[in-house]
Amino acid sequence: MVNLDKYSSIFIANWKLNGNSSFLKDYYEKLKVNSNNCTIICSPSIYLKSLKRNNESLFCGAQDVSSYKEGAYTGELSASMLRDNNIDFCLVGHSERRQYFAETNNIVHIKSSNLIEKNIIPVICIGETLEQKEKNLTEEILSTQIKDSIPNLANHHNALIAYEPVWAIGTGLTPTLDEINQVHEQIKNCDTKFRNFRVLYGGSVKSSNSNEITELSQVDGCLIGGASLKVDEFNTIIS
Ligand code: PEP
Repeated sequence: MVNLDKYSSIFIANWKLNGNSSFLKDYYEKLKVNSNNCTIICSPSIYLKSLKRNNESLFCGAQDVSSYKEGAYTGELSASMLRDNNIDFCLVGHSERRQYFAETNNIVHIKSSNLIEKNIIPVICIGETLEQKEKNLTEEILSTQIKDSIPNLANHHNALIAYEPVWAIGTGLTPTLDEINQVHEQIKNCDTKFRNFRVLYGGSVKSSNSNEITELSQVDGCLIGGASLKVDEFNTIIS
């Protein structure tokens, strides 16, 4: 399993359903990894094997994994198949999967356990909708997601949490810096076992706001969607 303690910050590029072979070639020619930070590229699964790991701070992550271990589940990829292909990280419970693919906290829990058993670090995504935020339900929603989706065997060495307010993903909107720091603090304090977890922020991170977000005392890195598709922009964020 990757030793997260070696890195001061963690940056994850989530390409979502984007990219092709020539995009990937160009991206890796231009990508400039900062060795102090852990940089993880989550490409669509068909490209995972082609991603280069030519730097010890650069890793590959899957965007999803099956909740099943093996069997008659057409189209699925298991945690052991990811391990077999040297994939070290995997996103779980991204709001797009929760919204479009009916991924529940229970499924996130099962997927995360399967990944940890195979020494793959799950990046467990949690976040409130705008409606929930407006009703002041953020803390309650996040605690339920944490309680129901993070397995007991997870700890700060083998799992990461990503706080991604649903309303901030791909919208250009972000919470205030104070709000981000406060929510990260609440996540780390909702149970003593989460105190040392690395918590990443995701939601409309770009080069113009990444510094101020990553400098927040409770933020341990960022999960970046749209802006990670432009390699120059991503280079600025991870530098
Ligand atoms: C994401 O996909 O996890 C994300 C944070 O997207 P964006 O950076 O585009 O808001």
